[in-house]
Amino acid sequence: AVSIDGIRKSFGSIPVLRGVSLSIADGEFLTLLGPSGCGKSTLLRILAGLEMQDAGSISIGERVVDGLRPKQRDVAMVFQSYALYPHMTVASNMALPLRMRRLSAVQRLPILGRLLPGAAGAAAKIDMEVARTAESLGIGHLLARKPGQLSGGQRQRVAVGRAMVRHPAVFLMDEPLSNLDAKLRVQMRAEIKELHQRLGGTFVYVTHDQAEAMTLSDRVAVMLDGELLQVAPPRVIYGDPEERRIAEFIGSPT
Ligand code: ATP
Ligand code: MG
Repeated sequence: AVSIDGIRKSFGSIPVLRGVSLSIADGEFLTLLGPSGCGKSTLLRILAGLEMQDAGSISIGERVVDGLRPKQRDVAMVFQSYALYPHMTVASNMALPLRMRRLSAVQRLPILGRLLPGAAGAAAKIDMEVARTAESLGIGHLLARKPGQLSGGQRQRVAVGRAMVRHPAVFLMDEPLSNLDAKLRVQMRAEIKELHQRLGGTFVYVTHDQAEAMTLSDRVAVMLDGELLQVAPPRVIYGDPEERRIAEFIGSPT
């Protein structure tokens, strides 16, 4: 489970998160929905450990993760821009989290470097995991390419694959489909749903797209100006918004 308790964050004198609290159950698909600039990405970045909150606390699993670096948290993030390394192949991009994890274990405990099975064996294991994941995402034939040689949808799959190889407890996805054309977006939406059902992880997902929020989410958290206004299943948010502001944003009749 993810527990977010009273998170506050300002940039300079401008408050961006004004005390956000939310509990997300294991295996839940929760979508953050709200207008541009309301603080969705900031909250996700704080969950990932890429940004530090000014106040409040976060636990992931049973562990308080405040102050832990991204690598030490059991999360993986997929960015809107994919954030792939252009000079590296698909295979290397996907293997990176696993390689870094092994490297940091060796750095912490140098003797591991000598005790671990030969570097070649470990690398082969990583390659197999990457190949299997790529296969499951339909990009198995693209492993030797570089991101510049891929379509938007293929890049997006690589970014998801890179998150998957870590087997995180929590997937953080910040508008992963927003750069895709409408047709591909609908197709990838189905794939994300399938992925969630197959992996069973906890998903915190950000989107502007109401159809996406509606079809994917167990619950939707409506965010406005750094605050959560309502957290409820999509049919409640859309059918019975608690506040006029929510209805206005969603555009449903009041
Ligand atoms: P969008 O839907 O457009 O992606 P968002 O809800 O993800 O918007 P955030 O990126 O979280 O919004 O930004 C919230 C507010 O914080 C914005 O006003 C933004 O300009 C500001 N902000 C975000 N990051 C920084 C930063 N590093 N320094 C200063 N201001 C920032
Ligand atoms: Mg954003």
